[in-house]
Amino acid sequence: MFIAGNWKMNGTVAEATALARALVDGLPANAPTTAVFPPAVHLAAVGEVLKGSPIFMGGQDCSGAEKGAHTGDISAAMLADIGARGVIIGHSERRTDHGETDAEIQQKVEAGLGAGLGVVLCVGETLAERESGAAQSVVREQLEGSLPKVFPGGSVVIAYEPVWAIGTGKVATVEDIASMHGMIRAWLGENQPELAQTFILYGGSVKPSNAAEIFALDEVGGALVGGASLKSDDFLGIIAAAMKP
Ligand code: PEP
Repeated sequence: MFIAGNWKMNGTVAEATALARALVDGLPANAPTTAVFPPAVHLAAVGEVLKGSPIFMGGQDCSGAEKGAHTGDISAAMLADIGARGVIIGHSERRTDHGETDAEIQQKVEAGLGAGLGVVLCVGETLAERESGAAQSVVREQLEGSLPKVFPGGSVVIAYEPVWAIGTGKVATVEDIASMHGMIRAWLGENQPELAQTFILYGGSVKPSNAAEIFALDEVGGALVGGASLKSDDFLGIIAAAMKP
């Protein structure tokens, strides 16, 4: 299992380090792989708190370019240099707020892998796409368009996050999660054999109260957690749910 917390654009340095400290202190022995994704400007301070702990940290986005004239952007190598070991790419909020296309996301995935970062690649359909019956074809297209054509090696975890379930309190049904994860697993086996066994996370309003039934599903390898990752007790509750046999 892999449990990842996406802190999005929240908090101060003091709040971020306090949250990281609470997670370090509260993380149970034998916890699943745990990662946090603080805002870029908090990475250095959070990295200091996480030093020596099993929790690793990553960035929430990176540039597809290696370096140069890209004002405001952050390269994958810069993330690695500051102690990040992973990066979230293609989050629906990036696709919506910044109009990121699959082709741009593919460049970012390649940049992240090139810098030695583990990539969490987000895919997921909108409500209109689900209601029109296109959810699986949309996610398949995102996988096809966002993963490197020739896999360069490294680690990519897929996060299935239905857009309409992110930050809304609405959770996909277990049947919908199971069938989407099954499709993603089959697609990876056929098209990206290097990733055939990778974790496939679910994301979208995961909380301590609903995590266990989601984690019990075949092919759910953990969660990408937004809102509930900002409260240490909630995030630790989700981690505890992932440890249930
Ligand atoms: C997310 O941002 O990836 C997410 C799943 O958010 P939330 O848990 O708040 O729905």
